[in-house]
Amino acid sequence: MIDPSRCRSMNHAANIDLHCHSTASDGLLAPRDLVARARANGVAVLALTDHDEVAGLAEARLAAKEYGVSLVNGVEVSVSWGGITVHIVGLGIDPADPRLMAGLASVRSNRLARARRMAESLDAAGIGGSLEGALAYVANPNLISRTHFARFLVEKGYAPDVHSVFQRYLVSGRPGYVPHQWATLADAVTWIRAGGGVAVVAHPGRYKLSGEEMRTLLAEFKALGGIGIEVLTGNHSPQQASEYARLAREFDLLASRGSDFHGPGESRVDLGTMPRFGADVKPLWRDWPDPKSQTG
Ligand code: AMP
Ligand code: MN
Ligand code: MN
Ligand code: MN
Repeated sequence: MIDPSRCRSMNHAANIDLHCHSTASDGLLAPRDLVARARANGVAVLALTDHDEVAGLAEARLAAKEYGVSLVNGVEVSVSWGGITVHIVGLGIDPADPRLMAGLASVRSNRLARARRMAESLDAAGIGGSLEGALAYVANPNLISRTHFARFLVEKGYAPDVHSVFQRYLVSGRPGYVPHQWATLADAVTWIRAGGGVAVVAHPGRYKLSGEEMRTLLAEFKALGGIGIEVLTGNHSPQQASEYARLAREFDLLASRGSDFHGPGESRVDLGTMPRFGADVKPLWRDWPDPKSQTG
């Protein structure tokens, strides 16, 4: 048991990475290899946050024990909000909670049908065989995603790398994009909280929302019981990090730091390699016990 009186809180500027993906969703590394890489990069606390899926957490936990990394159980829930897709990260969840698990299963259940429609759209643009091609990159058949299609499109020479794919394919108005209904914002936050976790808005800079729309999103999120926002993410420029630090203060949200690492050679930002927080934000982990100070 952890005795709180014998624990210090985590350092403000600790190397904590609270967002990454394994082969249980669209990452390239198995959970164990991801934890090993986090350790090699000096990450003290790692959250594995696969899309709509917790199947990688058991392996990650065993590896975390072996490598001396503190693991936070996480998930990244796909949400439809205001006509766009928003991602909500849940941290500190119980991967056995029946309400959370039923919610995530419902989000996963439509992915294969969506993938078939994506393949039809690519067929219509003269790109055949994409469903089989994408499935060749899928380790968890419940979790076929646009990333797997992007890897197939790179393989076939339609783009030089996965990032470039998303300039011409798989996004609104382009071949391979199909509208899809994910969870509601209320469902995602409610499931995460039911599972004992805290909810965090992932990579807000990705959503192409106006200032007013972003404020509406954050106000709704907060009213539902969400508490955090990613300020430092592999998706943000330094300007965006400052902008979201300011919004975190305005909405009294705690600031999170997560690379959104998907794999070597594919993600620009590696595990635990982002800047540290300055004194201008309240980090999400400000009250978390420092694993190094736990004695029992
Ligand atoms: P899905 O959940 O199937 O819609 O797939 C979403 C995933 O596609 C994200 O989690 C990213 O891994 C990837 N993705 C989306 N947009 C981009 C982008 N512009 N560059 C790189 N990867 C992207
Ligand atoms: Mn992804
Ligand atoms: Mn995301
Ligand atoms: Mn992610």
